[in-house]
Amino acid sequence: MKRKTKERRGIAACVLCGQCNPGSVAYTRSHDERRAPRHVVWLARKRRDSVSLYACMLNGRAEELCPLAISIDEAVIEARRRLVEKGFETVDNKKVVGQLVEGKNPYA
Ligand code: SF4
Repeated sequence: MKRKTKERRGIAACVLCGQCNPGSVAYTRSHDERRAPRHVVWLARKRRDSVSLYACMLNGRAEELCPLAISIDEAVIEARRRLVEKGFETVDNKKVVGQLVEGKNPYA
């Protein structure tokens, strides 16, 4: 069965309500607000450089919980693209991306 995709809104429409937070593994495991989708969206909106932007697993769960259908994953990808262009990348992220580029398991 084909999954219906929602019409998504940009991060400017985020009201920082935090209803997306339970969708994040990084947040639910750590209970660290800096890893919460709400915070990550805020960072992306303010164009702040932070390793917190690498905490998101981009699995779409946070987006599913957002009542305003904010495009969280797209915003995180765009923010990471900007960080990489500026040379602001974590060692772990470089390793994961390197493994993916080589067609290997990124978590090995
Ligand atoms: S992305 Fe959606 S659920 Fe998350 S804080 Fe913003 S408006 Fe609330």
